[in-house]
Amino acid sequence: MKYYSTNNRAHVADLKTAVLKGLAPDKGLYMPEQIPVLPASFWDWLPGKSMGEIGFEVLKYYFCPDIPEDKFKAMVEDAFNFPVPVVKVGDNISSLELFHGPTLAFKDVGARFLARVMSYFADFGGRPINVLAATSGDTGSAVANGFLGVPNVYVHVLYPSGLVSEIQEKQFTTLGQNITAYEVDGVFDSCQRMVKDAFMDAELNKEKILTSANSINLARFLPQSVYYFHALAQIPRKDWEKTVISVPSGNFGDITAGLIAWKMGLPVGRFIAAVNANRVFTDFLETGVYKPMASVATIANAMDVGDPSNFARVSELFGGSNVEMKKLISSYSYTDDMIGEAIAEVKNKYGYVCDPHGAVGYAALRDSLKEGEIGIFLETAHPAKFLATVEKFTNDNVKIPERLQKFMTREKKSINIAADYNLLKTNIK
Ligand SMILES: *Cc1c(COP(=O)(O)O)cnc(C)c1O
Repeated sequence: MKYYSTNNRAHVADLKTAVLKGLAPDKGLYMPEQIPVLPASFWDWLPGKSMGEIGFEVLKYYFCPDIPEDKFKAMVEDAFNFPVPVVKVGDNISSLELFHGPTLAFKDVGARFLARVMSYFADFGGRPINVLAATSGDTGSAVANGFLGVPNVYVHVLYPSGLVSEIQEKQFTTLGQNITAYEVDGVFDSCQRMVKDAFMDAELNKEKILTSANSINLARFLPQSVYYFHALAQIPRKDWEKTVISVPSGNFGDITAGLIAWKMGLPVGRFIAAVNANRVFTDFLETGVYKPMASVATIANAMDVGDPSNFARVSELFGGSNVEMKKLISSYSYTDDMIGEAIAEVKNKYGYVCDPHGAVGYAALRDSLKEGEIGIFLETAHPAKFLATVEKFTNDNVKIPERLQKFMTREKKSINIAADYNLLKTNIK
């Protein structure tokens, strides 16, 4: 498979280049040249299959034979090593729990897969790969844990000193091995600037391989399409076409993966892009005009995005037309008060505890499901990751899973540096 840039269809790259570069040279996002439609036999085969089994069957079109099939199969099994269950919440609403991975958020799925693909190309080219990640909290932990122990890849996580929560910090400063954490005297933007300086350093880039691990990387969002198939594998076939999938959305990588699955033949009824007060996509569907905004802070903060980076991909899939998009996708926006009420409602009505992001997905189903439809919302993080907010609205303690607690007892190891790129440079392998 070749990958083209959303800014210029004539610019194509092979898999290795697209994965290691992340962004196309013209700043476009890479898209697969073809999106294959799965054969009818796939749907007969699907019921009851695991993430690993489905992952191989769905993703091989994009990653093989650039990666040989036997190697790829092992990589997929290794990446998708945790359950992603559909859990019944109410009569016609279920939750697809994506938080059973090492850092308790759905970003584990993409990060673990990306890490293995990058490691393959590092082995193949013989030179180590340096992954640079500036983080304000959650991305750092998913990326660091996803790449932990992966041969030939070194991860450098930069975070602003004192500005991430203790639990977030512990998730990427206690790992050791191939993960280095830099506690930067500055703010998130200082960290991001140091990363940008590294990518701009022509001399350094001639000698070393530097890359990033954010959701613009195709090997981070494509694997997320697997759990949409896996959701159907767990419900009766007669319900597939009645199913509405509600995706709590920020940078829109997650829903892009769902739309790719749909293009491959996923037989669901429709999709919802559920958002917080950052409603640029909701407004676009309504008006056809895309107007990026400055992001506003909300209690579902992983979705505080005013200019979703994957909008270019969504747009590409529908020829840029909001009219075409509206046939399949609707979008609902919720204020913090409404999100809090939704958390309380799910708890009181059904005894199910949502995190603030999942609650947005739930609310959109509650408000839009029609007679005969059934809804699945993506539960993108474990409620314990947003403890204070969830406990406030449920009036109850959230049980902290053991694997989250384990991080708290480990010793933090970070390199405290000033916000100066040269101090980072010396550590690049
Ligand atoms: C990143 C994130 C989202 C948003 O996903 P996108 O792919 O950026 O749309 C939603 N919920 C949680 C918990 C996240 O960490």
